[in-house]
Amino acid sequence: MRRFLRHLLEGVQERLFSDIPEDFHSVETGEPFRTCIDCEQPLTGFYIIEKAFVNGDAIYEYALCDSCSESLGEDISPESKKHVRKFIGFPLKPRNLNRCAKCKTPREEGGEHVIIGGFEEDKMLNLGLPLTLCGSCVDLLNEGMSKATRDRLDEFEREHFPGPPEMEIDLPKRPKPVLI
Ligand SMILES: [Zn+2]
Ligand SMILES: [Zn+2]
Repeated sequence: MRRFLRHLLEGVQERLFSDIPEDFHSVETGEPFRTCIDCEQPLTGFYIIEKAFVNGDAIYEYALCDSCSESLGEDISPESKKHVRKFIGFPLKPRNLNRCAKCKTPREEGGEHVIIGGFEEDKMLNLGLPLTLCGSCVDLLNEGMSKATRDRLDEFEREHFPGPPEMEIDLPKRPKPVLI
């Protein structure tokens, strides 16, 4: 019986976690992310990665550790969190990164989109994540958030992605973390 249980758990574990796909490697280093963008500590335990693409280029990317995403999450209103959960949904099965999780539009090389994943050490968690959101769905998601939440996320963006001014003109609503 115990052996059966262990076998079952191993099976669940295998489905829940997989190797980190190259999609989630850092474009900057070509390697897996090693440190949190906020506290700059090595990534141990759970962390999230978000990357945004425009015209095939990653316009921003970051990994955020659990404790930093928790403290950012504390500044986000419960209404906004509820909105995100309702908007994206969290199915208990792996999603297809090749389509927008919301509108199902195929992810195109040149299209504007973000990908988000949850990770533990050198493994990717397959539970509601990873997911892709197209540019229009990111806009819709942001529009549904409270002003206070948007201000807080704008602050996060200014702090970590100062970027050249022309980017701010082209991309008024991005980059910013969409899932905390
Ligand atoms: Zn951190
Ligand atoms: Zn979409």
